[in-house]
Amino acid sequence: MSVCLYAIINTYPILSTMSHTLESDLRGIIQPCPACGTANRIAYTNLDKQGRCGTCKETLPRITEPVVVSGAEPFAALVSQSPLPVVIDFWAPWCGPCQMMAPEFAKAAAQGAGEAVFVKVNTDDEPHIASQFRIQGIPAFALIKNGKLAAQTSGFQPSARLLSWARQIV
Ligand code: ZN
Repeated sequence: MSVCLYAIINTYPILSTMSHTLESDLRGIIQPCPACGTANRIAYTNLDKQGRCGTCKETLPRITEPVVVSGAEPFAALVSQSPLPVVIDFWAPWCGPCQMMAPEFAKAAAQGAGEAVFVKVNTDDEPHIASQFRIQGIPAFALIKNGKLAAQTSGFQPSARLLSWARQIV
């Protein structure tokens, strides 16, 4: 395993917030090290690899939680650079079925870890991304493969159904 796949962006332990999502930025997904708490940035281009914590050198676990993507540029960077397919959950805080969908999407992210990256886009905050995908109603889902839109579906669905939909296409 080569080193320096992951850049350390800060050395402060991340306090557990129980948010069950991961943050992202222009270059990658921010993953706290379970051993020492250091926030490691996993570059989008390395999402198919497992790396080590920049501080304690422990092997980092796979991405098993949904990733929150904010802003058109980080979104474009993720979908164009990820070697893994990307499953997007379009949702909004006021949408009841979206709330019901959240734990199912989280389950799909855990069960599909290593196969795809699971991303959440808040359509209230990111209307430009929603309109790019011509989202009519939420929850809605898009599957990106090799940087291109491969499939879309919508409506509440159990994690198993969402996963089998994605696996059928990738
Ligand atoms: Zn560590």
